[in-house]
Amino acid sequence: MLEEKARAIGVETIFDLLWRVPRAYGDAPERVLLGDLEPGVSATVLVVVNSIRRIRVRRRGLSVVEAKIADSSGERKAVWFNQPWIENQVKGGAAYVMEGRLDKKGFVVSAQEPTDAGADEVPVAEGPARWQDAGATGPPGLKEGGIRGRHPGSQELRPARWRGWAWQACRLAGDLVEPLPSSILEERGLAGAVSAIREAHFPQSEESSVLAMARLAYEELFLHQAVLRRGRIAGRSGGPPAIPLEGGEATSKEWIKGLPFELTGDQRAAVSAISGELKATVPMRRLLMGEVGSGKTVVALEAMLHAAGSGAQSALMAPTEVLADQHAATVSRLLSGSGVTFALLTGSTPPEARTRLLEALAAQNLDILIGTHALLEDPVVFSRLALCVIDEEHRFGVRQRGRLDRKAPAGHGAHILHMTATPIPRTLSLTAYGDLDVTELRQLPAGRLPISTRVLNEASRAEAFEHLRGEVRGGRQAFVVCPLIEKSEALQARAAIEEAERLRETELSEFEVGLIHGQMNSQQKALAMLAFEDGRTDVLVSTTVIEVGIDVPNATVMIVEGAERFGLSQLHQLRGRVGRGRHAGACFLIAGSSGASSARRLAALAKESDGFRLAEIDLEMRGEGEITGVRQHGLPRFAVARLPRDEELLEAARSDLDRLAEDSGGLDGPELGPMLELAGRRFGPEGIRR
Ligand code: ADP
Ligand code: MG
Repeated sequence: MLEEKARAIGVETIFDLLWRVPRAYGDAPERVLLGDLEPGVSATVLVVVNSIRRIRVRRRGLSVVEAKIADSSGERKAVWFNQPWIENQVKGGAAYVMEGRLDKKGFVVSAQEPTDAGADEVPVAEGPARWQDAGATGPPGLKEGGIRGRHPGSQELRPARWRGWAWQACRLAGDLVEPLPSSILEERGLAGAVSAIREAHFPQSEESSVLAMARLAYEELFLHQAVLRRGRIAGRSGGPPAIPLEGGEATSKEWIKGLPFELTGDQRAAVSAISGELKATVPMRRLLMGEVGSGKTVVALEAMLHAAGSGAQSALMAPTEVLADQHAATVSRLLSGSGVTFALLTGSTPPEARTRLLEALAAQNLDILIGTHALLEDPVVFSRLALCVIDEEHRFGVRQRGRLDRKAPAGHGAHILHMTATPIPRTLSLTAYGDLDVTELRQLPAGRLPISTRVLNEASRAEAFEHLRGEVRGGRQAFVVCPLIEKSEALQARAAIEEAERLRETELSEFEVGLIHGQMNSQQKALAMLAFEDGRTDVLVSTTVIEVGIDVPNATVMIVEGAERFGLSQLHQLRGRVGRGRHAGACFLIAGSSGASSARRLAALAKESDGFRLAEIDLEMRGEGEITGVRQHGLPRFAVARLPRDEELLEAARSDLDRLAEDSGGLDGPELGPMLELAGRRFGPEGIRR
C-alpha cells in the first residue's frame, strides 16, 4: 500500500527518497516543556507516551485518539482527530517528538516521530539537535527550534510521513557514493555527497541548507552534462564515419553568389561551420536554431548543394505535408538553373510518380529528396545518402530521426543538420540539446519589416476586424487564429469550423473565407493552403496548424482569439506568419478575461520582437516545463537544479568538465569512469533524448 503510494510519484528506492528534498525551509517550532505550553502557539515537545486509546465518539465522521504524554514538567493529554490508525502506530511506553498546539481538548498533535532517545533522556535535550550530534541513533526527525525543511507531501501521503522516511533514509545515507571527483570538491569548496544530502533534509542552519542545495544542484547539472558529452563524443567518433564531402563547396559557393540577396552574418557563420564539418569523416550533429524567416532553409540548401556537388545525396524531412510542400517550392525557386535535381515524396505522392522517383533515387539520378515521414519507409533507398536535414526536429521521435540516418551506404553514417524555429534560451539549449552543436541565427535578413503587435480586449475586437478588412480590400490577406483548446484537437477543429461560418456571415461577409484545421486530412489541408497561397481565399481561419513554416508573403494581418491561452513563444511563432513580404504586418492579440500574469506576457510580446529574448522572458515567467520545444524534448526533471536560476552552476559545471576532460585526456580516465557510470544510471545513457 504505502509502497504503491510512493511509487505513484516515482519514489522507489532509498536513493529516490534522498533526492526528494524539501522545497523550502522555515522556522521549526521551539521545543518547550509540556508545562510551558501556551494555548494556540505551535510547539514541539519531547515526551514519553504513558497510555493511548481510541475514544468512542457518537457523532459519525469523527474519530478521536487520546494519549497521556509526559515529560519532566508533568503529564498532559494529547489528542489526534480523524486519524484512527494513530492508536496502533504510537506505542505506549515509547518516546516521541510531537508537534502541535494546545487547545481546550489538550495538546492537538499535527505530527509525531518516534525518537531513539531513551525514556530516561526525555527531560533533557535543550536547544536544537544537530545532525552532527546524532551519532548512530540520531535525533528525531521532527527537529525543534532553528530551521526546518518543508518536505513536499504527495496526494496520498502527508508531508510528515515523507519527512519521517527522509529521516530514515538519511540514516542510511552514509553509504552514498561520492560521484564528484575530489579535485572538484576541493576547488569549488563543495560539501561531500553524504553531508549535503543530510543537510538538505535536516539542516543545522539556513546557510548550511543553501550550501547543501547548491552542491546538489551542481551535482545534477554536472552529471547530466557529463552524460550528454559522452553521448556526443560516442555519437560522432564511435559510430560509422560519414562520407567526407569534398569538391562540392565550389558548387555551393557559386550558388550563394547568385542569390538575389546577401547572407546575414549569422547565416555566413552557420554556412562556414557546416561546410567545415561536411568535409570531415566525423559525422556532423548540428542544430540550426533560428526563428521563422531567419533564413534556415537557405543555409540547409547550401549544405545540400555542397553534398550534391560532391557526388552525394541529401534528404530533407519535414513533419507535415504542408511544410514539405513549401520546402519543395523554395528549393525549386532557389535551385532553378543550378542543375541540381530534387523530388518531393509524401503520403500523397501518386504511386506511379513514387515508383519513378524511387528508381531515380536508387540510381543516383536524384540529388535531393524532400518529404515527410514517408522518407523513412523501407522502399526508400538512397544510393549515396550523406546528409540528412531534419526540419522542426522536435516533432519527430528519436527513433524516426535515427531511421533516416541509417539509409546512408553500408559502413557509413550521415551528417545530420537539425533545424528548429523555436529559439530557446542558452541555459535550456545546453541541457536539452547538449548532444548537439547549436548554431543560432539571431539576425533577421535585412529589409524585414517589423510586425506591429497590439493587445485588445474582447470589447475592442471590432477594431482588429476593421483593420483586417482595410488590408484585404487593399489586396492583402489575413489569418484568424482560433483559441487553443488544450488536448482536444477535435474541439479545436469544431471551434474553427464554427468561427469560419460565423465570420462568413458577419464581419467577413464580403470576402472569401478559407478554413484549415488539424482534423482535415492532408489533401484537404493542402487544398486549403493552396487556395490561400493562390489568393483564391482572402482570409484563412485556422487552428495552430499554421504555427510552423507557412509562408504567404501577401498575408499582412493576423488576429489571434483567446491569445491569453497561448505561450509567448507560440504567439511569436504565429505572428511570424504575417508581414513576410513587401508589406508590413500587424498582429492583434484578443485577450479574454485573464490574470495579471498573462497580461504581462502579452505586453512583453507587443514590445519585444526578438524571439530569443522572448524565450528568455517566457522562461522567467512560466518556468522550463512550459517552453515549447523543450517539453517535447523531455528536459530531464532535475530534483534540485532549476533553470535559469542555476545558470551559473551550469556554466561552472561545464567549464569544470572541459578542464577535467583535458587534464585526463578525455572523459574515460580512471577518475571519471565511476562518475560517468553513475551519471548514466541517473539520467539514462543518452541524457534526455529518450
Ligand atoms: P526559415 O526557414 O528560417 O523560416 P527561410 O530560409 O525560409 O527561413 O527564409 C525566409 C525567406 O527569406 C525566404 O523567402 C528566403 O529566400 C529569404 N531570405 C533568406 N535569407 C535571406 C537574406 N539573407 N536576405 C534576404 N532574404 C533572405
Ligand atoms: Mg523554414
